[in-house]
Amino acid sequence: MPKKTALITGGAGFLGSHLTEYFLNKGHKAIVIDNLLTGSKDNLAHLDKKHLEFIKHDITKPIKIAGKIDYVLHFASPASPVDYTNHPIKTAKVGSLGTHNALGIAKAKKARFIVASTSEIYGDPHVHPQVEEYWGNVNSIGPRSMYDEAKRFSEALTMAYHRVHKMDTKIVRIFNTYGERMQIQDGRVVPNFIYQALKGQDITVYGKGDQTRSFCYASDLVDGIYRLLMSDYNLPVNIGNPTENTILEFAKVIIKMTGTKSKIIFKPIPVDDPKQRKPDITKARKLLGWEPKVDLAEGISRTIAYFRTKVK
Ligand code: UDP
Repeated sequence: MPKKTALITGGAGFLGSHLTEYFLNKGHKAIVIDNLLTGSKDNLAHLDKKHLEFIKHDITKPIKIAGKIDYVLHFASPASPVDYTNHPIKTAKVGSLGTHNALGIAKAKKARFIVASTSEIYGDPHVHPQVEEYWGNVNSIGPRSMYDEAKRFSEALTMAYHRVHKMDTKIVRIFNTYGERMQIQDGRVVPNFIYQALKGQDITVYGKGDQTRSFCYASDLVDGIYRLLMSDYNLPVNIGNPTENTILEFAKVIIKMTGTKSKIIFKPIPVDDPKQRKPDITKARKLLGWEPKVDLAEGISRTIAYFRTKVK
């Protein structure tokens, strides 16, 4: 018998599938709700289906689930800037209506709830590294706004449910994450650069490449999320790897590690692209005893190995 039952929205996505796997490996049952907009059932294909149930459903529409649910993890959303710019309304709806429905399920089932928030809620940050107390610098009408504001709203609604209904809710602010099962062409920098390198195409650095990101390997991230869910802490917690690189440095890492002959070219920087991003993970360290274990060289080499099996 599985120990507990976790409902995971977006469970067929990149991060969602890693979470689903993690819960199954811990001996729990997982119910995945996904409309497969940016996710794929292929991401779950390798998993033992004995304690895994898949429901194709758009969580922006209400749904009743029979039986006991102990945890609700709301991870459904397009997450790459290219995807959420292509699906702005669906992105805004899944962060707002979707969060409302997911909270409703958790309330009805008396389940513990966690919502996937994001470093994007800090916008183009003036505080560096980003601490949870920082309120952010977000353009409410720019091209990234449908994602950023939906995630900010999802945090607000989650806190309202916590305060009004006394629910046990958690908010994880996820920083750039990478690993196996990212979509090859979702437009994010990790798949883009690896794909381009493996194909011998030019590596497209946007702007001068002096903007920074801090990349966390997926297994570290899901470990942090699980610890947060099991904790008694209800305020937002950053989970991410604080090792910061410029995008130009990152392009050079990919060139070196793939051994490609690809050249770097420079393209215009997208509007509102944050100039710097690095999590302050003091809270995660202190409250959860968590910190990332997989460094960039190891995580990227595993990710390149995965992409080699996918890129023909
Ligand atoms: N980026 C880049 N070339 C690409 C894709 C992305 O230089 O082919 C840059 C992008 O401008 C941003 C960073 O890499 O500064 C990370 O972009 P990503 O889309 O992965 O996610 P973000 O962190 O912006 O949400």
